[in-house]
Amino acid sequence: MANFIPFAQKLSRKYHPDKNSSPDAEQNFIAISEAYEVLSDEDTRSIYDRYGAEGLKQHEAQKQGGGHHHNPFDMFSQFFGGQRQQEKRGQSMLTTLEVDLADMYNGKHIEFTMPRQILCDHCRGSGAMTDGDIKQCGTCGGRGMVVQRHQVFPGMFTNMQTTCNTCAGKGKVIHRPCTHCKGAKTITHQNRLDIDVPAGAPEGWETIIEGEADESPDWEAGDVVIRVRSRAGAGGPGGWRRKDAGLYRREALSVDEALLGFERNITHLDGHVVAIKRPGTTQPGYVETFKGEGMPPQGALPQGDLYVEYTVVMPSAISEKTRQGVAQYVKRAEPDLWQAIQNG
Ligand SMILES: [Zn+2]
Ligand SMILES: [Zn+2]
Repeated sequence: MANFIPFAQKLSRKYHPDKNSSPDAEQNFIAISEAYEVLSDEDTRSIYDRYGAEGLKQHEAQKQGGGHHHNPFDMFSQFFGGQRQQEKRGQSMLTTLEVDLADMYNGKHIEFTMPRQILCDHCRGSGAMTDGDIKQCGTCGGRGMVVQRHQVFPGMFTNMQTTCNTCAGKGKVIHRPCTHCKGAKTITHQNRLDIDVPAGAPEGWETIIEGEADESPDWEAGDVVIRVRSRAGAGGPGGWRRKDAGLYRREALSVDEALLGFERNITHLDGHVVAIKRPGTTQPGYVETFKGEGMPPQGALPQGDLYVEYTVVMPSAISEKTRQGVAQYVKRAEPDLWQAIQNG
């Protein structure tokens, strides 16, 4: 019987649903906890010894309503460092993913891998080669604390409790470390994760993947927080830029396009075409607004607009003939402009 308790502890750790994701884990865990409950209680054990499982069933039926708890987590709470609810949680891990602006415009399912510490599958996080290699610390006798006698005055002593140096307060020492994790208890694993970025996601949009941060025997794994933003750099493909729900881009016009007008098609981030048609002149720096052509609405962000800023590319040099021609043209056809130029 005395041997059963550490054995049950070991099994309960192995099959604890928090630590074991196989479908049978929870059933096994409950079965182990029930067996433990029966065998650790003097009364039920003697019933079991004499009358077997049937005898126990009758005994339980008689006790119905007697406040007998059957929550396996209560049974084993002592093995998991106190109440399950208060189990320490590891830190969350924040990762920033940079995606194309088009992915934030269209929305995208993204799969990626992230390194993560997981419990060593060899020693299941004990750090020892076998369970027999975990020994009670000889220095502190398993208490994790040692009492030291200090002399405060000549002839006057005080006892001070300090953490045991040999076992760092754990009460246990490992004789032969696990060869797989070299005693570290955890190993690095490339964790496969995936997220769904919604169409129109704001810059810095975040999603939480619960329980996928580093594992440790000392805590319950924290969450992974994925923050998404569009790639920095020269405006992304096609010169698209973004501010909140607004999209921005520059269109370079030749002199004749700026003077005489033009038609042009812009291919948007999802491939649809935005047609530009400007029959008259276009001033350099003019910004034209295309309603509803910005980012799609998402969360607090409304439907955005597209702002196209026009720049004019001047020829690097013109011939004397062209120069005189343009001067003649402006003087005759645009006398007001000619006057304005003369006046500086
Ligand atoms: Zn110790
Ligand atoms: Zn190991």
